[in-house]
Amino acid sequence: MATHWVNGVKRQLKKPRDSRVHQDVRIISGDAKEFMEGYINEVQEKEHCYFRPPVCPLQDYYHYGCDRGKHSTGKSNGEATKTRANSCKAYISFKVITDAGISGAIIQKMLQHTGHDEDNSKEKNRILPDLHSLVEIWLQQGWSTSEILIRSHDWAQQNGHVDKKDSRFYLTPYDIRLLKKNLRGVTDSDSVYVDHLVSTELIDKIWFYQPLHNEQPFIVVVQTPFQKLLLEENPHPMVFMDASYKGITAHGYAFYALLLINKTGRGVPFAYFILSKETTATVSLCLQKLQLNNPRSVMMDRDLRVLNAIKRVFPKCKASPLLVPYASGCQPVACEDRWRSPDS
Ligand SMILES: [Zn+2]
Repeated sequence: MATHWVNGVKRQLKKPRDSRVHQDVRIISGDAKEFMEGYINEVQEKEHCYFRPPVCPLQDYYHYGCDRGKHSTGKSNGEATKTRANSCKAYISFKVITDAGISGAIIQKMLQHTGHDEDNSKEKNRILPDLHSLVEIWLQQGWSTSEILIRSHDWAQQNGHVDKKDSRFYLTPYDIRLLKKNLRGVTDSDSVYVDHLVSTELIDKIWFYQPLHNEQPFIVVVQTPFQKLLLEENPHPMVFMDASYKGITAHGYAFYALLLINKTGRGVPFAYFILSKETTATVSLCLQKLQLNNPRSVMMDRDLRVLNAIKRVFPKCKASPLLVPYASGCQPVACEDRWRSPDS
């Protein structure tokens, strides 16, 4: 039945004008997208060439062009070791059809590559998608270029890729810097979105907002009406303050939480700061904006920038890095025993 169906479809096909184009018809038993991905992966492994994600100019028609199909622009002369824009015309296309209750695909493929040699591993190839996502995660976690370089090479070795010249598995510092730059492009659009959010949906919760602009650091002071009330109702003389960097903000910004002790003795957050640049000036500004009712002491870790900010805003407050309020009977829960250099 299946063979009969395939032959029936084949009989109706027009012969392609280009003699390099090969035609085939296959039955699709499961999901069409999965079938196409599987087919492409098979060809990629066999032919050592790579295809771009598909474009779909017509309904049920999917075109996978060679990864090196783009035309080179600017100063580039399309040299395959320097660019992937080699104007290669190789492709695979799928026309998904359903007839008499059977689904299948008419496949056209032209696998004669031009402008590059798919067996030359020195050619610049796209980074393997898995590795690409991994590097993005590392960048978001704040790892440096050299740390990521070591990690990515370890990853390649652990996954059995031995050819260190293969640019799909072995990154250069330049690759990592480029990924970092692309990621920052995402950050810029995020800042536009934040602009929108703070002036609409979150307007009642934002106590102070300074948008990112050239040299001006990004600052948000968050305090909900409930938190404001909490602060008014629990005028505790002691404030707890600590910052976090990794994980919470993908952009490497500092996130501060400020806590007070409520009437039942629990620590509850009453405000948050998010800062793109952590200096005495930015922390001072946040503290000023909050208009705290002169706390007697602030418990914090040994960050000089924060210490100086507290001294500046609350001159009478007992804020020293050694300030551990044993006297008040409180355990030094948030105290970290280390110094961080100012504005580092
Ligand atoms: Zn090609």
